Amino acid sequence: LDLNLVPIFEENEEFGGVMLVLQDVTAIRRLERMRSEFVANVSHELKTPVTAVKGFAETLLGGAVDDPETARSFLQIIFDESDRLNRLIGDILELSKIESRRVPLQFSPIELSTFINKTVELMGSEAVRKNIRISVKTEPDIYVEADEDRLRQIIMNLLANGISYTPDGGHVSIQVEPVNSLGIGDEMDYDHIRIHISDTGIGIPKKDLPRIFERFYRVDKARSRSSGGTGLGLSIVKHLVELHRGSISVDSKVGSGSTFTIELPVIQ
Ligand code: ADP
Repeated sequence: LDLNLVPIFEENEEFGGVMLVLQDVTAIRRLERMRSEFVANVSHELKTPVTAVKGFAETLLGGAVDDPETARSFLQIIFDESDRLNRLIGDILELSKIESRRVPLQFSPIELSTFINKTVELMGSEAVRKNIRISVKTEPDIYVEADEDRLRQIIMNLLANGISYTPDGGHVSIQVEPVNSLGIGDEMDYDHIRIHISDTGIGIPKKDLPRIFERFYRVDKARSRSSGGTGLGLSIVKHLVELHRGSISVDSKVGSGSTFTIELPVIQ
């Protein structure tokens, strides 16, 4: 609580007493703390790859460059870490743009069956590389009003996570479910749609579930790093879903897999 004493003067400018103002600053302080934690996290996240790049470059300059095999492997590390740095900066800028609402959404009606099949195709090579089958379950003629590029980004991110956190030979599926929440009319009188993205992967421990949408939160830092994750993907996804006035939830079981569900209103 912030406490302030404000003097009060009468109309004839005589002192009339004091007013005690108590202001609950918990929310403001919390915001300040979150902001400074974010800056600290960003600095730490950026420092890790920069330190690696610098260290390996130094070792090369110190003589390692003369051994072609060592040189090649160090250069590969420098390349990978720069790539990671690039992705990290991209995601940080993206998140900051979205959070400050500097992304104007262009809404248009999207037919989900075609849209999802096309989006899944874009993930094909990554799935093939890991021998992961992606199956699609939709019906034709289900429409949602959304920003096409942003919706693609949401789905691709969730599919990429599904592939990334599922061992080789596993299965990722995407299903569209029209929801008639008022229960009036038939099934095609849907007012919401849910998109479920499930995998047969490693799953997420119950205690971590409430935190995975936080920036930089990872269940297993080493695993996320080795798969090239920035720890910002789900945070970006959640913001984008909310910009569509939708919501996202997750259900998961360690060792058997995860399901992410996006719910979007259908704007008629
Ligand atoms: P990252 O870049 O680390 O993947 P995300 O924000 O996309 O960051 O996800 C945050 C964390 O949530 C991941 O590090 C991982 O621990 C967990 N996670 C996300 N999706 C899945 C999934 N499909 N299966 C298991 N864990 C997941």
